[in-house]
Amino acid sequence: MKIDRVETFLVPPRWLFCRISTDQGLVGWGEPVVEGRAEVVRAAVDVLAEYLIGEDPLRIEQHWQVLTKGGFYRGGPVLSSAVAGIDQALWDIAGKAYDAPVHALLGGAVRDRVRVYAWVGGDEPGELTDAVSAHVEAGMTAVKMNASGVLSPVPTRAELNAVVARVGAVREALGDDRDLAVDLHGRATFPAARMLLPALAPLHPLLIEEPLLPEHGDRLPELVALSVSPLATGERLYHRSDFLPALRAGISVVQPDLSHAGGISEVRRIASLAETHGALLAPHCPLGPVSLAASLQVALSTSNFLIQEQSIGIHYNLGADLLDYVADPEPLRIVDGHIARLESPGLGITVDEAAVRKADRSGHAWRNPVWRHDDGSFAEW
Ligand SMILES: [Mg+2]
Repeated sequence: MKIDRVETFLVPPRWLFCRISTDQGLVGWGEPVVEGRAEVVRAAVDVLAEYLIGEDPLRIEQHWQVLTKGGFYRGGPVLSSAVAGIDQALWDIAGKAYDAPVHALLGGAVRDRVRVYAWVGGDEPGELTDAVSAHVEAGMTAVKMNASGVLSPVPTRAELNAVVARVGAVREALGDDRDLAVDLHGRATFPAARMLLPALAPLHPLLIEEPLLPEHGDRLPELVALSVSPLATGERLYHRSDFLPALRAGISVVQPDLSHAGGISEVRRIASLAETHGALLAPHCPLGPVSLAASLQVALSTSNFLIQEQSIGIHYNLGADLLDYVADPEPLRIVDGHIARLESPGLGITVDEAAVRKADRSGHAWRNPVWRHDDGSFAEW
């Protein structure tokens, strides 16, 4: 079997899919994307495709090595995401070739269903408690929220109180039997994070995400020392070597993104590295159905898995949503806050190719907003 074509599709709301076909008719789907830079990743996939044409798609690890290292320059969001989507598509083909779901090829399922959480609120959390009630009614057992909008470098007492009040309102609506994850989104400076972590601890967060920007990771040990809440990071880390310092710093939860951190192959290794540090896996996934399916395959076969992000109804999904691109939504249906084990060969979903091709004709040009402080200076989004 040989790879004969690699195509990419720029689809709303902000995603990029890739389709790898073979001379024997098997097709695999992947989702190589950096949110806001989808066109750049598309160009990277086009370049990597030069190597793939004519290759045996089942030699996934060999291709991963060549694709990540063979261009001499390596790593970073764009190249790692391009490889990630290709890697997902190759695993999809492998599963179909061996007539097995990917989790079976990874050693078999270690769980019967995968716990997922839902997002509440947007970038500027507002009517949060109604959203929480809707999720509770739908059976969700965990939600995640942004703790703040624009955050001053040293927050005022009022800002600090507002963050605690906002998170507290969600905790109140959620009750004590469900979990609340809090995302700082890299918006906090080190002094702000030092103030926020003890203030949020009484609300018992499941995790506090990106308490610092990745480039300030060398200060994580100081935050770990003062936080009783589990600290999480990793949506902006792309390789196990990026995760090692964070794990040595003592973070509790790693959050690699299946579409950024080298795909199924590398996230499995990141999970294993986390396991050796006693840390848990909670993959980042505010993305589309292919990335979610790849995440679920890893969750199903990884012992130190905690919880999975998914984007159904997320605030970014304007104009299109996750289930618009699958022929059958049933495998991704959330029941009692969980998605059941995927049983179909490959990634376990059927991409609606006609819908994808149609959506690509209009494409998208999604960009994240650029935020400013009151004085006009740049603020982290
Ligand atoms: Mg996040």
